[in-house]
Amino acid sequence: MTVDRSLRSTYDIQILIIPYLDFTSLISLAQTTQLFRDLINPQRRHFVGRLLEIECLPQNGGEVTLDLLKVFPPTVRYACTRCLKILPHTKFDNHALLRLRFRKPPPKSRAGKQLCSWTSGYAKAQGLKRQGDLANDTFEKWMAREHPLVFAPTPELKEEYNIGICRHRRTCNECKFQSGFWAQNFDLTRGWRRRNGNRNQNVGTAVPVIKSRQVYTYHDASERFFPGLFPYTGDFPARRRIYRDYLIDRLPWCLYTMRCPGCERWQEFAAFRQPRMPKSRPRDAPVWDVQDWDVKVEEWRCNGCVAAADGEQELGRQLVELWKTLAGWEVKWIDYCLVDGWRHIGYLEHEDKDFSWTLVYRRARVESQLLREVPNVQEIAKMSGEVRREIYGIWKQYLQKHGEWPEGDLITTPWFKYWSYGYEAMEKRAEFLRACTDRVEADPGILVEYALRGEGYEAMVMSY
Ligand SMILES: [Zn+2]
Ligand SMILES: [Zn+2]
Repeated sequence: MTVDRSLRSTYDIQILIIPYLDFTSLISLAQTTQLFRDLINPQRRHFVGRLLEIECLPQNGGEVTLDLLKVFPPTVRYACTRCLKILPHTKFDNHALLRLRFRKPPPKSRAGKQLCSWTSGYAKAQGLKRQGDLANDTFEKWMAREHPLVFAPTPELKEEYNIGICRHRRTCNECKFQSGFWAQNFDLTRGWRRRNGNRNQNVGTAVPVIKSRQVYTYHDASERFFPGLFPYTGDFPARRRIYRDYLIDRLPWCLYTMRCPGCERWQEFAAFRQPRMPKSRPRDAPVWDVQDWDVKVEEWRCNGCVAAADGEQELGRQLVELWKTLAGWEVKWIDYCLVDGWRHIGYLEHEDKDFSWTLVYRRARVESQLLREVPNVQEIAKMSGEVRREIYGIWKQYLQKHGEWPEGDLITTPWFKYWSYGYEAMEKRAEFLRACTDRVEADPGILVEYALRGEGYEAMVMSY
C-alpha cells in the first residue's frame, strides 16, 4: 500500500510538476535529495537554461542596447553557454548581444516564459516530447495560445516571439577564439577582407580584433591612444568637415579589443602601440581594406609582454616613438591649418571689394621698408612661427580696429572665421604637444608608467 502511494506520487511529480518548473527550480529540486537527482538527472542543457535565467535577473543589470554614445557599466552581464559563466558585457562582441535572437527576453516574451519541459529519462519519451514541442512551436500556434484575440500580428508580437530564442548559442569572445570562430571568415591572402561578403565588423586570426559597441570622441590621435595622459585646459583646434558648414573639435573613434598572443589577455588596441588602424573611425566601416598594410599581426605584443620580454627601457623607446608619430601628425596638421588660413584672405578680397589686404598690410608696415612686399601663401608657409605670428598680428589688429573682434560680419566662411579668431589657440595646442614630446623624450618613464600601471588603458577596456 505505502509502496503504491509513493509510486503514485512520483508519477504525479514527473508528469504534473517537474515539466512545469523553470530551469532554476529544476536544478534546485535535483539538488535536494538523491531521489530527485537520480530522477531528474540534469543535463548540460538544463544548466545552460538555468544560466540563461540567471542572466535576466536584475542583479545582472538589464541589457546593452544599440546606443552608440551610451557607455554601459560592466555590471551588465550575460551568460556564455560554452564556458558556462556569467560575464560582463565587455567580454562579448556586438553580434552576441545586439541581435534580436541573442538579446535578453522580457518576462512576457516567448523565451521569457520558457519552462524546462523536462521529461523522464527514457530516450523514446524524450524524443516524442521533442517532436510534439517542435510541432507546436510555430508562430501561428503561439499566437493562438498567447494572443487569441489578435488577428493581425504586429511587428512587436513577432519580436516577442523571436527575442532571445537563440541565446543557448551565445558564446564569449574567448570561447569564440578557442573554438576557432573568429578564424572562419578570414583569408590571409587577401588581407583583412571579407571572403564571403559577410561584413562582420570583427577580424579573426591568431589575433582577433573585436570592434567596440560605443563610439568615443577624442580631440586627436594622441588623445585616443593616450587618453588622459596630458590633460590640456586650453581650446582644442577645430576640425574641418568637408561639405559641412559646422566645425567640430572632436572626432569619433571606435575602440577595439584584441587578444594578445603573448599573455592571452584581451586589451584595447592602444596597448599594442600601432599608430595606424584601418577602420579606426566609424566612417571607415564596414570593410577592412588594408592591402597596402603589410603588418604581421601575429607578432604584435601588448605593453606588458614587451616589458616582460625586452625590459621597460625597450618599451619606453617604442612608446616614445608612438607618441612622436601621433603628436607629430597633429602638429603637422595644425601647421598646415595655420598656413591655409592665408589663402582665405585672397578669397575675401574677391568677395568684398572694399577690402584690400595689400593696403592693410602696407599700412601696418609703414615704418619698415624691408617687409613691405605682401607675402603670398607659399612664402608664409616657409616662414618661422614668430614671423607668421607677426603677420597674423596685422590681421588681428585690423579686425579689432574695425569692430570685428572677437566676431563680426566681414568674414562669412566658418572655417576662415575660426582661423581668424582661433589662430592663437591652434598655435598654443601645437606648442603644448611639442612640449609634451620634449617631456617624454627626456623621460620615457612617464609613458611606461602610464602604459603599465596607469588607469587609462584599464578604463578603456572596461568601458569597451
Ligand atoms: Zn565563454
Ligand atoms: Zn600580452
